[in-house]
Amino acid sequence: MTNRTPIPQSIINDVNARTDLVDLVDQSGVKLVKSGREWMGLCPFHSERTPSFTVRPEKGFAHCFGCGAHETAIGYQMRVYGQTFIEAIKDLAWRAGVDLTDYVGRAEKPAHKPKPKIASRADEKDRETETNKRRLRGQALWKKGVAVEGTAAEEYLANYRGIDRGLFLQSPVHRFIPDYEFWYRARDAKKSEAIWTGPALLTVMQYIDDRFAACHITCIDLDQEKGRLKLTAPDDGRDLNTKRVMGDPSKAAMRLGKPAFVMVGGEGLETTYSGMMVSGHTGWCSYSLDNLVGACVMDAKGDRHPLDGRMRLPSVVPDMARPGMIWPRECRERIFLGDGDTKDMHMLKAKLERGSRRAHAEGCIGRVAMSAPGTDFNSMIRGAA
Ligand code: ZN
Repeated sequence: MTNRTPIPQSIINDVNARTDLVDLVDQSGVKLVKSGREWMGLCPFHSERTPSFTVRPEKGFAHCFGCGAHETAIGYQMRVYGQTFIEAIKDLAWRAGVDLTDYVGRAEKPAHKPKPKIASRADEKDRETETNKRRLRGQALWKKGVAVEGTAAEEYLANYRGIDRGLFLQSPVHRFIPDYEFWYRARDAKKSEAIWTGPALLTVMQYIDDRFAACHITCIDLDQEKGRLKLTAPDDGRDLNTKRVMGDPSKAAMRLGKPAFVMVGGEGLETTYSGMMVSGHTGWCSYSLDNLVGACVMDAKGDRHPLDGRMRLPSVVPDMARPGMIWPRECRERIFLGDGDTKDMHMLKAKLERGSRRAHAEGCIGRVAMSAPGTDFNSMIRGAA
């Protein structure tokens, strides 16, 4: 091989821009459905049952909200077909009619048709086994936990978050582990490695029939102002989410309080406990906002974003077949908690509205309660303390 000029960024951009990303993803075997300005489907890079993989053709990338995959056309081609950068750009340039002669030799029709590796196409049985494995691992972790009294978890909830000890100290849903290992898999690494070991609050997530669903993990660092661990990815310096879930959390709840006629529901422990304290109601919580309110009908269009007419809000129409967290039967009035310091309040309100509508469709009352603008529920109670 002779030394060739490296491919300039402008050519790389050109190949990306001229590749129809929806087409590319579709041809690799991922079925996409249009939803507003984006397309959605099951992620090819991690195994899932509900779609969190989105393709944004006009932005030129695909993004997965489940595993964080974020790829341009060339990146997608590399990952899904296991190609090198040069192989991928050659194949795409050929299709898009971009001339790479000066950099990689004459464009030629790809000699072989590579086989895509699609995680979420694994058949139902494989997927079930995988979910089950994760659930068992979560259960093993949960079993290692000890009572939170006198641990960093008690200190975190009571002193750093201002949660009333009476609410959580005797609660069977929390445990503590002093040496949780935070595993991380770098972008190009074959294996994951433990990048942090330390104290964590464990919270059990249960299906509506009481069975163990998942273990929710909050990593604690009492040297931080809010007591939560801050961790950045060793390879690209991204902030990592130091709350994790091990198991099958999609329909499950963290049962922070006893079922009651009126209950609050929130995303995350701290918000929900704070909402319980502010309102005097009991509550359950979910591990994510999307799971708290459940999915929307996939092809339903959301309203135009009031601040940016080119954007659409998430649809408020619930897909009744994909409910997310199941509420207890005893609860006839669901109050969805929204933190007033959320970056995009309009997006948040649209999702909470979907939760409300789902409650109505199920014969319950659904309401939305927002904390004061610029504050979250937790700062309301910490301010009052
Ligand atoms: Zn994914």
